[in-house]
Amino acid sequence: MARVVVVGGGWSGVSAAIALAKAGVEEVHLFEKTDQLLGTGLVGGIMRNNGRWTAAEEMIALGMGEPFEAVDACARHKDVNFPGHEHATLYDVTRIEPYVRRIVEQYGVQVHMMSRVTDVILEEVPAPPSERGGFWTLLGQRVPKPAKNKRIRAVQYYEKHGADFRGPYTLEADVFVETTGTVGPQSECARYGNGCVMCVIRCPTFGGRVSIAGLCGVPEMIGGANPESLGSFSGSCKLIKESLAPWIVEELDRTGVCIVPLPDEMIDREKLKKKACQQYAGKEFAENIVLLDTGHAKLMTSYFPLEKLRRIPGFENARYDDPYSGGIGNSVRYLAISPRDNYLRVGGVENLFCGGEKAGPLVGHTEAIVTGTLAGHNAARYALGLPLLELPRQLAVGDAIAFVNEQIREGGLFKKYTFSGATYFDRMVATGLYIMDRDMIRAKVESLGLTGVFARRLVPARESLLLAGD
Ligand SMILES: Cc1cc2nc3c(=O)[nH]c(=O)nc-3n(C[C@H](O)[C@H](O)[C@H](O)COP(=O)(O)OP(=O)(O)OC[C@H]3O[C@@H](n4cnc5c(N)ncnc54)[C@H](O)[C@@H]3O)c2cc1C
Repeated sequence: MARVVVVGGGWSGVSAAIALAKAGVEEVHLFEKTDQLLGTGLVGGIMRNNGRWTAAEEMIALGMGEPFEAVDACARHKDVNFPGHEHATLYDVTRIEPYVRRIVEQYGVQVHMMSRVTDVILEEVPAPPSERGGFWTLLGQRVPKPAKNKRIRAVQYYEKHGADFRGPYTLEADVFVETTGTVGPQSECARYGNGCVMCVIRCPTFGGRVSIAGLCGVPEMIGGANPESLGSFSGSCKLIKESLAPWIVEELDRTGVCIVPLPDEMIDREKLKKKACQQYAGKEFAENIVLLDTGHAKLMTSYFPLEKLRRIPGFENARYDDPYSGGIGNSVRYLAISPRDNYLRVGGVENLFCGGEKAGPLVGHTEAIVTGTLAGHNAARYALGLPLLELPRQLAVGDAIAFVNEQIREGGLFKKYTFSGATYFDRMVATGLYIMDRDMIRAKVESLGLTGVFARRLVPARESLLLAGD
């Protein structure tokens, strides 16, 4: 009986856990250190903008429809356009989490809430011949791959009970998936940003992010704007809608978008360079206040001093909902990226896979769902002794996973990639991967023999392999 542990319950961890359960893994454990799933997805909400529409439809055709069904069920607006972006869906951040949690539980995943993994128990095994003698490129430097790989035997974790953390408890498993994201912890937000601004990840209450690859001694990569400016500010804040003028709320409720031009003296173009979401770094985002309706008023800038904001007509009473100190700064991300292959196996650790922001500077919920799903699916294959799956480059989802890895090797760690804009969306358009026709996408996935691949139970496949004496 296979047991797989997923650490981190953001969009990537949730997708990994669902993929594992669908593949037929008997015992799937999902650890989340806070009291809610979805991580940064609790304050995001933009889906299906530009190439994310294509990626979402590819994933549905591949057999991972659940996250997108949840988003559709909790959508406040569909087919929304805003500067540089078309046909977006905006999900309601106040409704999505319980909806997704129910789906995860329906799949029989054992969800460990308020359980923070803080250590691993390791053993050493010889690296497979194919991996010996090679190099990883980290921050532009060639690092020799070790002759021995590590293997995780168990994770150790603490549970939060009121003010106390109880533990450590130990859980052994066959395979592990790391989806801990790259936000914080507090010390990193202080070092690379403007300090802890009390974001939705709530490190002071639940403890900071702990990297599983880091605990295994894997040299992790740091992204940012450039080698002198490491880390990236999260690119949006949330204002409490009721604190804004009625005409703003009315426009948001009716159309999903409200754009308010900024007076010249308030425009700060420099701030755009430090933004994690480079797809929202066009000049319109510096020259205007761009608000989107995700239940809160999503303010498409990393931070904006409150006193200054309140000088703008309509914002006289504005209050931040996330981060609480959105007038000062935002959470800092991309400080702990794992080296990985296109199966999403982490370099140097035999039985560790990664998804979401851990898997590279791929920004977004859709992107986290894509990599989380493949990491979970391949963890199931590994646990069952089946060959791993690489998604083909004829699909945007396969191409993005491979492209980002190539870009990192060529110094692309200081860029961000997303189906919705900047470098990668340009590539989708140029290579014909951006397709807005559902039937064409389904036919393409079918022609690749991959229809429903993530929905198939792998257990019978393993039994037929065993019968064939493989
Ligand atoms: C403010 C903000 C707004 C955004 N808006 C959008 C948007 O509108 N649309 C969009 O597509 N993208 C948006 N993004 C980006 C998007 O949210 C992320 O790229 C994506 O969701 C990352 O998912 P993840 O699962 O990799 O990581 P995360 O969302 O960071 O989740 C990681 C989870 O792991 C948990 N964790 C960490 N360490 C441990 C541990 N040791 N043990 C147990 N649990 C642990 C954390 O508590 C967290 O819940 C936004 C991001 C931010 C911060």
